Amino acid sequence: MVNENGSVKKNRRGHEFPAVAAWLVVKAACLLLATAFLSGPLTAQSDSDELQRRIREQLRAGSGATTPSRAEPSRRPPEPGKVTPGTSGPVVRVLLDRYRGKKMVTLTAASSWTVRALSGTATGSLPAGTVIVTCADGGLVFNGMVRTAGAVVMVATDQAIERRPYRGQLALHPEGGAVTVVNHLPLEDYLCGVLPLEVSPAWAPEALKSMAVVARTYAVMQRQKARLPIADLDDTVNSQVYGGRWVEHPATTIAVRATAGMVLVRDDEPIWTFFHSTCGGRTASGADVFGGTSPACKSVACDWCKAGRHFAWETNLPRATVIAKLTPQLPKGFLDQPLIAVEAGRKWNCGRVAEMIFVNAAQVRAPLDMRIVRRELGWDVVKSQFVRIELAGEQVNFKGNGHGHGVGLCQWGAQGQGLAGRTVQEILSFYYNAVQLRPARPGKEW
Ligand SMILES: [Zn+2]
Repeated sequence: MVNENGSVKKNRRGHEFPAVAAWLVVKAACLLLATAFLSGPLTAQSDSDELQRRIREQLRAGSGATTPSRAEPSRRPPEPGKVTPGTSGPVVRVLLDRYRGKKMVTLTAASSWTVRALSGTATGSLPAGTVIVTCADGGLVFNGMVRTAGAVVMVATDQAIERRPYRGQLALHPEGGAVTVVNHLPLEDYLCGVLPLEVSPAWAPEALKSMAVVARTYAVMQRQKARLPIADLDDTVNSQVYGGRWVEHPATTIAVRATAGMVLVRDDEPIWTFFHSTCGGRTASGADVFGGTSPACKSVACDWCKAGRHFAWETNLPRATVIAKLTPQLPKGFLDQPLIAVEAGRKWNCGRVAEMIFVNAAQVRAPLDMRIVRRELGWDVVKSQFVRIELAGEQVNFKGNGHGHGVGLCQWGAQGQGLAGRTVQEILSFYYNAVQLRPARPGKEW
């Protein structure tokens, strides 16, 4: 799910990694000035002289140094409707946050690993089975014996991290003494690991297709605009939640394949396809919530999401809790006087509450941005800005509709429309203004 702040984040994470032209292997760096690589089983390989011997043999055999990784994905644009997993479409780089900061990562595979330096063409291999990756002296260490100075890309059949399978390739970066894993894979395969975590695979096929197009377009935009040093997206709500091959479901995979390569464009360019769980009766204007980044996200009346469990909700919080959490956000000294009232203040044109008003015993009124209120009280506590607010005794009462920022596609609304027999084109045109659904433009990587 796109986060509440809109997810248009740049350089959010990561550090610049130095370009590495060759691998440095323990006590053998001098051998690797031209095209360094490693090869051969690493088990029982504690003798660095033996390691150097193997490297010399590989160098004499002339293998590896210029061999492209066998699973290097093509970067040709996908042919609509004919995407073969792992072989076509642009590649996305997904930072796997779930492993971030780990000092040790365990990889397993059914075949031997093809390994190459992320920078340069040096390649080698590691045996099938378990490979334990750690960090030392700013580099990576494999099975405690072989070391590289910089990031590598690994690929094998049925590859898994901590038993969790992933498609594509695994880029490993040494980062502050820990191993950071970035999954490089074709966009279409990435989407197969996103959709089941965003919507129910049991939903109507046209709703699933709509979500596939929206998630693809959003990923394309992040890939084009984010420009992170080592990744285009991450696997959390900051981008779109991604679970790898582990979470794939046939129904959502069919939706991805059925819309392969199709994106939403406006004025010949892909758009920020924001989306949310439930609008609660009317979607929010993208201009209101995120400023000028999403002109295609219009505010539209939507009662298609009535079946969503967050269509209408009510939350009561103790006055003391609200005061404790929001006092730091209010003017200094404002709550030296007792709080006597709270209410919804200014509204945007789309009807959502822009500010919550606090009134103290001196009749001073203090407005607070409703997004800050939601952030501090909890995005899942005050579920939307489509809300009425009042102080009822010792309770602050929030009575609202919908869940999420409300911009763009309403997921439960898409499901309602899908059940009613509306097509993916009809659903997307309902939520986005002046857009076309079309395949990637030849020659451009989206
Ligand atoms: Zn809705």
